Amino acid sequence: TKNIAVMTSGGDAPGMNANVRAIIRAAIYKGCKAFAVYEGYSGLVKGGPQYIREMHWNDVRGWLAEGGTNIGTARCMEFKERWGRLAACKNMIEAGIDALVVCGGDGSLTGADLFRAEWPSLIAELHEKGEITSQQYENHKHLNICGTVGSIDNDMSSTDATIGCYSSLARICEAIDYIDATANSHQRAFVIEVMGRHCGWLALMAGIATSADYIFIPEKPSSRKDWSDHMCQIVAAHRARGKRKTIVVVAEGAIASDLTPITCEDVRDVLVERLKLDTRITTLGHVQRGGNAVAYDRLLATMQGVAAVDAVLEGTPETPSPMIAVVENKIVRKPLVEAVKLTKSVAEAINAKDFAKAISLRDSEFVE
Ligand code: ADP
Repeated sequence: TKNIAVMTSGGDAPGMNANVRAIIRAAIYKGCKAFAVYEGYSGLVKGGPQYIREMHWNDVRGWLAEGGTNIGTARCMEFKERWGRLAACKNMIEAGIDALVVCGGDGSLTGADLFRAEWPSLIAELHEKGEITSQQYENHKHLNICGTVGSIDNDMSSTDATIGCYSSLARICEAIDYIDATANSHQRAFVIEVMGRHCGWLALMAGIATSADYIFIPEKPSSRKDWSDHMCQIVAAHRARGKRKTIVVVAEGAIASDLTPITCEDVRDVLVERLKLDTRITTLGHVQRGGNAVAYDRLLATMQGVAAVDAVLEGTPETPSPMIAVVENKIVRKPLVEAVKLTKSVAEAINAKDFAKAISLRDSEFVE
């Protein structure tokens, strides 16, 4: 049998609990022991029974729908240093863990991939220093690792949806529906900022699903003059047709073609100055992360959790570390390194102002 540990890392997302539950129960079902690493990589670096705990079937009862992550998550600077990863390696071996499933965003999965690549040199160093026994060294020569993608942003390449993105989308739409009523009553304009970091998926999908008048996303930058003219023309046309309210959705990462941020304040000022609209700004903030996971996220997290356990049980030193993805409604394994590399190239392409490349790399036909 294997001792399989699960950890959540990076930004929390609804459905992470469902993923942890599925991994723990699938591991037990397959005759393995299941463990949870609490507080992300910092729990691994600190180690000991407080942070690396064996989990039983009943420990995750009721977790399927719950938002957030009950085993905690953290941003951990120490894990970015080799000494931090060396401590993590030792703690894992002491706890007898031989496979790790990390549920997190691209940062967390980059860390996971680096950890696996470095593993042979880490255990060799621990063995040399006499910090682990020869038996432990022999038993842990290879680290079996697997990633599942938990993020509200849906910003990972190679997968159609990340665990949490549909819950967040549902929450955003609900909030915009509330704003709609008041906007309509007072004939106001609302500029609404939504999360997503450098990815416009949440803003675009929420904008379409709430019939927003205009949407700003990082993937489609334009000059201040161009977006001002275009937005005013569209909003004025909608008003002329009798629409009593205006909703503009701004992704937090929205940028102009000179790569400066487009802020809600910029957009409000244009609506006030040029169209004389009574305009308010609403930043949705952390409500976007809260609440229960929607049915789709529960299903995705559960199916991917089972697939992750299968992947670590079938993993060999020769097979590349997998990331569990969903592509055209099928749960599939993708090479973790490739997915992380692709996601990073998107950021690089945006920095180089090569937006066409960024869009094609992210498999984002939705922008077209
Ligand atoms: P997300 O996983 O949501 O993208 P972060 O980028 O903050 O979130 O990453 C979460 C954690 O993963 C970091 O705090 C760090 O511990 C680890 N991590 C991220 N990038 C690396 C890296 N290049 N090397 C090692 N660990 C990393």
